[in-house]
Amino acid sequence: MDEKRLSRRASLASLGGLVAGAAGLAGLRATEDAGAGPAGVASGLISCVLAPEQTEGPFYVDDAAVRRNVTEGRPGTPLTLRLTVVNASNCKPIRNAAVEIWHCDAGGAYSATGAEADERFLRGIQRTDAKGLAIFRTLYPGWYRGRTVHIHTMVHIGGNVVHTGQLYFPESVTDAVYKRTPYSARPNRDTRNAADSIYRNGGRRSMLKLARSGTAYIGSITVGVQRS
Ligand code: FE
Repeated sequence: MDEKRLSRRASLASLGGLVAGAAGLAGLRATEDAGAGPAGVASGLISCVLAPEQTEGPFYVDDAAVRRNVTEGRPGTPLTLRLTVVNASNCKPIRNAAVEIWHCDAGGAYSATGAEADERFLRGIQRTDAKGLAIFRTLYPGWYRGRTVHIHTMVHIGGNVVHTGQLYFPESVTDAVYKRTPYSARPNRDTRNAADSIYRNGGRRSMLKLARSGTAYIGSITVGVQRS
């Protein structure tokens, strides 16, 4: 898997957004005629849909740093996150949104809690560029009891939180990653996507597209938000 293929897909997605925006209803109808419609949304072909609001959970802290690389040397499988923020009402990219992520490490621990109270690993903020894209260098998350694998995200525009959600991973990829160290030290994760009560409440629309890059992964998603 390479960056070239990813960027071609990204270009197609933004071109689709522009066309739909310019053509209005006619464009939408054309999309449905092409067999995309609700099936397209379900399959992930149409990505400009409102991302589901999901709980921020108990581990949010409001002092995350603006930085791309949030790993702080923690062990784990490298994960590049490419999060594109678009306006869900017209599919246009939103520039200069502050995208925030936080998640647990390979051992299932969050920074800023318990024994790690003074740590801030795997937390950070990036601004979107003109294409609505924010990029993070992080690690494939581990798991903790009662939850499927996830990354928390929050999008701020002009000081307002416009989206709070969670990002998810295909089970087949998680299974492959967890066979390797350091994840293999905790072999019996207790909750997969299908059994996770938060995932089941719309989480399928927040599934990352995962691409392998050597031993690392690139996770991409377009997040549709309401602007105000
Ligand atoms: Fe969590």
